[in-house]
Amino acid sequence: MKIGAPRETFEGEARVAMTPDSALQLQKLGHQCFVQSGAGAAAGFSDALYAAAGVTVVPTAADLLDAVDIVAKVRPPSEAEAGMLKKGQTLISFFYPAQNKALLEACKDRGATVIAMDMVPRISRAQKMDALSSMANIAGYRAVIEAGNNFGRFFTGQVTAAGKVPPAKVLVVGAGVAGLAAIGTATSLGAIVHAFDVRPEVAEQIESMGASFVFLEFEEAQDGAATGGYAAPSSPEFREKQLAKFRELAPEMDIVITTALIPGRDAPKLWLADMVAMMKPGSVIVDLAAERGGNCDLTVPDQRIVSDNGVIVIGYTDFPSRMAAQASTLYSTNVRHMMADLTPAKDGVVNHNMEDDVIRGATVTHEGAITFPPPPPKVQ
Ligand code: NAD
Repeated sequence: MKIGAPRETFEGEARVAMTPDSALQLQKLGHQCFVQSGAGAAAGFSDALYAAAGVTVVPTAADLLDAVDIVAKVRPPSEAEAGMLKKGQTLISFFYPAQNKALLEACKDRGATVIAMDMVPRISRAQKMDALSSMANIAGYRAVIEAGNNFGRFFTGQVTAAGKVPPAKVLVVGAGVAGLAAIGTATSLGAIVHAFDVRPEVAEQIESMGASFVFLEFEEAQDGAATGGYAAPSSPEFREKQLAKFRELAPEMDIVITTALIPGRDAPKLWLADMVAMMKPGSVIVDLAAERGGNCDLTVPDQRIVSDNGVIVIGYTDFPSRMAAQASTLYSTNVRHMMADLTPAKDGVVNHNMEDDVIRGATVTHEGAITFPPPPPKVQ
């Protein structure tokens, strides 16, 4: 089959869904690769690098969509891009079908098959295709780098001839994929890291990374776990305890990184205005939940603001794109693994097997029908 990546059209998006390396791997599966000229430029992959990897470089998005059977993208298609899809063509990209009903209808009406990378079931076998995790890992890492860039001091403590420097104190709220990456990065830079999550099972992971788990004194178990490793909303009593604990920690913390999310809901507000007011000037909050409304009261999505008391609040929503080379490498590998599942005989022939849990789970339109939401996966 012919597979190609157009240049991303979402403003500021620097990632690309196919790299020269992933193209080499796709060719080993029997596929022919295409890329729109300039598609990889912002991530550091020139047209010449693609050409050297055997990829055909075409001038425009229209040429690309004309040439290929499978379109690989990062961001969900724009209305215009969806309108360019052809009957029988397959699109592989992030899609968020629950939030993009009109787009889903449009792709179905075009007769295109859509594989939503955000819908890959989070089962062990599918980890290599789990683009949500690979991007969350980058976001967590970059959140700490961004915090460091805005924080006027070292992370690690030092004793120097010019004086003793205390280590930075970091609090990570939410220890899913992004939170754990942030913990790992902050501890490796020498900070003292505390972390909190409503799911008690993450305590061990937090501690194994050299951070301390923030326990709440609560008569019920600290158990905010729902199904599939995700969180459920907290009870009002639990929430009050959590907020009281955060108020206790706020004056001491130099950096707060919030990552708390609950599937299908707005981000819970956990770092309230009074907590920001208690922090020292020059402290930094990075809110990775900004796209879903933010965990911090003061967060403005896509902005860096400074509070009245001099606390920097960062609400960027494009952390993976800010590390476009790394993000493109990992995302294109996720896509390549999806293609490997779709090409079991490695002969360039796609077998869209709707009996396969992973392919079924991720397929949101197929053969002129909407196939979202999928049935629950049979294997965990
Ligand atoms: P997420 O982005 O949905 O949420 C981030 C974190 O916020 C979660 O850990 C959640 O418990 C936490 N949270 C929610 N409300 C909170 C609150 N009020 N206070 C503090 N924390 C709160 O989660 P994610 O990163 O997508 O990961 C979810 C789970 O899925 C994790 O357990 C992860 O290990 C698991 N996972 C499994 C696989 C796999 O098996 N293939 C792959 C990826 C993730």
